[in-house]
Amino acid sequence: MSRQGTTELPVAIIGGGFSGTLLAVNLLRLGARVVLIERDEAHLAKGLAFGTRRPEHLLNVRAANMSAYPDNPNDFLRWMGFDTTDQANRFVPRLTYGHYLHEQLLSAMTAAPDRVQICGQEALAVHDEGDAAVVTLAGGDIVRASAVVLALGNFPPPPLAPFADLPETRYFSNPWDPGATQQLETIDHVLLLGTGLTAIDIALSLDSAGYRGRFTALSRRGLAPRSHAEAGLLVSPIACPEARGSKLVQHVRGRARYVGWRAAIDELRPHTQSLWRRHDAVAQRRFLRHLRPWWDVHRHRLAPQVAGRVAAWVAEQRLSFVAGKIGTAHMAGDRIDVEFRPRGAAAEKILSVGRIINCTGPGGDVTRATQPLVRDLLAAGHIRPDVHRVGLDVDHTGRVRGAGGKPQQRLFAVGPMTKGEAWEIVAVPDIRRQVWNLARLLTASQWVGGEGL
Ligand SMILES: Cc1cc2nc3c(=O)[nH]c(=O)nc-3n(C[C@H](O)[C@H](O)[C@H](O)COP(=O)(O)OP(=O)(O)OC[C@H]3O[C@@H](n4cnc5c(N)ncnc54)[C@H](O)[C@@H]3O)c2cc1C
Repeated sequence: MSRQGTTELPVAIIGGGFSGTLLAVNLLRLGARVVLIERDEAHLAKGLAFGTRRPEHLLNVRAANMSAYPDNPNDFLRWMGFDTTDQANRFVPRLTYGHYLHEQLLSAMTAAPDRVQICGQEALAVHDEGDAAVVTLAGGDIVRASAVVLALGNFPPPPLAPFADLPETRYFSNPWDPGATQQLETIDHVLLLGTGLTAIDIALSLDSAGYRGRFTALSRRGLAPRSHAEAGLLVSPIACPEARGSKLVQHVRGRARYVGWRAAIDELRPHTQSLWRRHDAVAQRRFLRHLRPWWDVHRHRLAPQVAGRVAAWVAEQRLSFVAGKIGTAHMAGDRIDVEFRPRGAAAEKILSVGRIINCTGPGGDVTRATQPLVRDLLAAGHIRPDVHRVGLDVDHTGRVRGAGGKPQQRLFAVGPMTKGEAWEIVAVPDIRRQVWNLARLLTASQWVGGEGL
């Protein structure tokens, strides 16, 4: 491995989930020094997605596409001991993938024990001292670094006004709160706010925890995630479509008639980031407002086993997907009455439920974030929201733009918080490439071998 361009000071990575861990592994392999800062010991090397302890939570990407390394695409298959096509097409438990990531970090650390440090503390602030960036930790220690990379993951969902006054035992604003799937004896109807993958995850967890009542999943359009095909698709590479905006939608519909909707979406995958970047902010906003719900349910699919369980629940009327807009919610005796207007209807309806869980997805507006580090970075003018407020404003290399719009020399971001720049940067296949590129940039190793991709 090359040691080109390494400096005396380490790179400080704030956040040890998938993105931060993989960046650390890549940097260590390239000879850099690394300090990995993770506030939650249980999340180290796994993060929110792969730190689950529940075996029913399956990956929504086939094993064949889950290698941690773009230059070694079969690494996860090798680690699993999978060597048949049938095995490569499987959707394995997310907790198994968490063990794989943990092992990647341990072996990179074992190979370079003197170049890596793990700090189990929350980072509270970052400031620039000219010749170094300095991270302040909750315990009062500081880390001096040649560069700081924010790998903070998603923020919790923003607060929803209609539920603000409900007791915490009835309304769970964070779906990953363990309490959301406990004390189920007296509940017979759960309202899931949101109809996407998080809502399905939570329904699975409730069922595994012994809940046998009904679920209503409600969102503006009530669209349910589609299923992956049983067998892996053969998607032939296509040139990046020239079409933009509504013409691009027509193009995809046309391809869907020809190759099927799954292949029509999947063949766009290598081009999604450049398609996003080719559209201006107005066109991107139009996509977010009108097309995003449709994109999400076709692009982010369920493993077929999970889709089968969802279909069975729908058939037995245990689960319903409802399109509508919430009005108010209040306690009515021991139950919660939720007033909502079904999509297209003139009058409100009342839904009487025992528990409400917010599965609307992560918050992205950094100006509404409550965590001290983000508040500090904002106040100091080191970060600013992207134009759509889905994350941080970064340039194409991951350099974070400060309040004035100038990309900073020592502050970077990776992972889902950069989706304003790249859009398609939430799943493993995209983030692994992003951190691989950034590791090369930070070690001045852009031209080191292995890129033959
Ligand atoms: C439930 C779920 C399931 C998913 N399933 C799949 C899948 O099957 N396949 C796929 O390809 N993708 C999947 N994804 C998407 C993708 O893999 C994740 O978005 C990705 O893992 C993001 O990793 P991350 O490290 O950026 O964020 P996170 O995993 O959220 O990690 C961020 C870490 O930063 C830490 N942190 C934050 N602030 C601080 C601070 N100030 N100081 C110290 N530490 C801090 C947090 O504690 C956390 O551990 C899933 C995502 C979710 C949420």
